[in-house]
Amino acid sequence: MMRLCDMQHGLSAEDAEAEREWVVECLAALRPPSVITLSQWSDKYRVLSSESSAEQGAWVTDNAPYEREIMDAISDPCVPRVVVQKGAQLGITDAAILNTIGYHVTEDPCPILVVQPTIAMAETFSRDRLAPMLRDTPALRGKVADPKSRDSGNTILRKAFPGGYVAIGGANSAPSLSGRPVRVVLLDDVDRFPLSAGTEGNPLQLAIARASAFWNRKIVIISSPGIAGVSHVEREIALTTCEFWYLPCPACGTQQILEWDRIDFDTLTHRCLSCAERFEKFEWMSGTGQWRAHRPVDERGNAVTSRGFYIGGLVNPWVEWDILRDEFVRACKANAEGDVELLKAFRNTRLGLLHQEEGSKIKIDLYLRRELYAAEVPDGVVVITAGVDVQEQSLHADVIGWGRGRENWHLDYITIPGDPRTAEPWEALDEAVYNRIFRCADGKCMRVKRMCVDSNYASDHVYAYTKPRQPRCIAIRGMGGLGKAPIAALTLSKSNRCLIASLGVDTLKEEIMNRLNVTAVGPGFCHFPRSDIWDEELRAHEPVNGYDIAYFEGLRAEQRIMKPKHGFKTYVWVKRLSQRNESWDDFVYALAALQLPHTGIKLETMERDVFTQLKSSGSANLGARPAAGVYISGGAPAPAQAAGFVARSAFGAVNRGVD
Ligand SMILES: [Zn+2]
Repeated sequence: MMRLCDMQHGLSAEDAEAEREWVVECLAALRPPSVITLSQWSDKYRVLSSESSAEQGAWVTDNAPYEREIMDAISDPCVPRVVVQKGAQLGITDAAILNTIGYHVTEDPCPILVVQPTIAMAETFSRDRLAPMLRDTPALRGKVADPKSRDSGNTILRKAFPGGYVAIGGANSAPSLSGRPVRVVLLDDVDRFPLSAGTEGNPLQLAIARASAFWNRKIVIISSPGIAGVSHVEREIALTTCEFWYLPCPACGTQQILEWDRIDFDTLTHRCLSCAERFEKFEWMSGTGQWRAHRPVDERGNAVTSRGFYIGGLVNPWVEWDILRDEFVRACKANAEGDVELLKAFRNTRLGLLHQEEGSKIKIDLYLRRELYAAEVPDGVVVITAGVDVQEQSLHADVIGWGRGRENWHLDYITIPGDPRTAEPWEALDEAVYNRIFRCADGKCMRVKRMCVDSNYASDHVYAYTKPRQPRCIAIRGMGGLGKAPIAALTLSKSNRCLIASLGVDTLKEEIMNRLNVTAVGPGFCHFPRSDIWDEELRAHEPVNGYDIAYFEGLRAEQRIMKPKHGFKTYVWVKRLSQRNESWDDFVYALAALQLPHTGIKLETMERDVFTQLKSSGSANLGARPAAGVYISGGAPAPAQAAGFVARSAFGAVNRGVD
């Protein structure tokens, strides 16, 4: 009875609201359409707020002339859909999202849905972008009731105005995308949208479906592009007119798209593709630009009605070319050191271009590149980590020294035979890795500072080993998927409340692949040891410390390939048939160990992590290599709790993610 009552109550309120909105929509439909275009409206009414814009005061479309056609396409009743693939900070969110909202508030009221990548970003948009516009643009002031006033019916994610409303949703939340029909759908930064809103499917399609009942619907999609193949904006703009911004050469008048490759970094001039004359930015920008469609008709020969605009940062009136050049040079340097992220960001947000992820593999013969180490721990190593893979009949550990810029020296690759569900291999692991003393050239000693042990197999035995050794030794679990954080989460095991770090292994693998391809010794470079004994038959130096041909074959066992998923291209790591890949996994886990939160590992600034001076008498056997891949204790056992052995910082709160 109680439930029926509640239901009736809920339904009647909902009905009343629906009826009110129906009346509002009917009245709106009866209004004559506005004769003013969006750019005219913006020049006439829009005022930019100081806290949210590069400029403030009255809007002037002529300041960024490429915005005019984009805006007027939005207010053109014959254009159902407008897509913009853009660089960052070109003013497109103001032009295409905010001005469109303002226009509909005063000229053509109707229900509007704005979608941001997440609910949190939707709230930020409402507070930092929409509210200042409504406050500072006189034509809009007073049209939207202050949410603070009682009975305004307004919240941060819903603003009503006479004849319509703006609802703001997050692409990560299917409920915020569903609801009553809306006529205008504005999708901002769509390449930051998830491929699926929860389990409900493509968030773009969910939002766009809400406008399907309106003959005069309008869909606006804008974004800096992300990764080719998994980009929403790439897929959407391919169905439009595909228009590019052309500028005339100041000398010969040839219309052309400005391209990054034709900029000279010394003179900061752009070369004409026709007469080869060079001109500075202001000279190019003083010409009258125009949009030219590269796809005016579709594959069947029909005129394309949806308009799409590509616009990059070279024509950004607010960012000069010297800033772009400096960013690019920094990004190229990082890329050469194996860190591709800055270059990716430069292409996406500055140039407005997609990043082409390629299927990747190791391009260098690492076996032939091995080198003779001057000491067990070569100079340059600041800290040592280890990654341990657990197999049915063995443990495999890679012990790696790390220096500035994550230059790394592989120290010892250890195979411990034995069933991990028994005690023996774990005792051997203590001796071979956890308690082992590594010797530097100057006689100082180091130990493994952090060690990650895979817990996918024989989990309870792994937890039993790692828990008493936390936080120096942590159980980990790999999670696939593009774009996950290296340390995606920290949780506790159910059985014995042991810490488990979930690793975004695809992200870690991408970093390792990039670093393995670094060719210059220095930041990012990977060193592997060899012996000084020449093997005539192999035509190479004999292997040492477990870095034999099988190890390097293991590093080649995985590669990234493209694979379709949900209609998108996506990239997955695959293992080649019949290849062992423990060496690859161990490298991934040792890299993760470097990045665990609260470890105090700051490679760029920290001193070498040494703990004591070795007595010469005890040093003879330290670091001795076990024979035939079976680990045999070589050195004096280290006292487990001696001063300096105890990890300096313990993990703080669990489940906090990465710090
Ligand atoms: Zn020219």
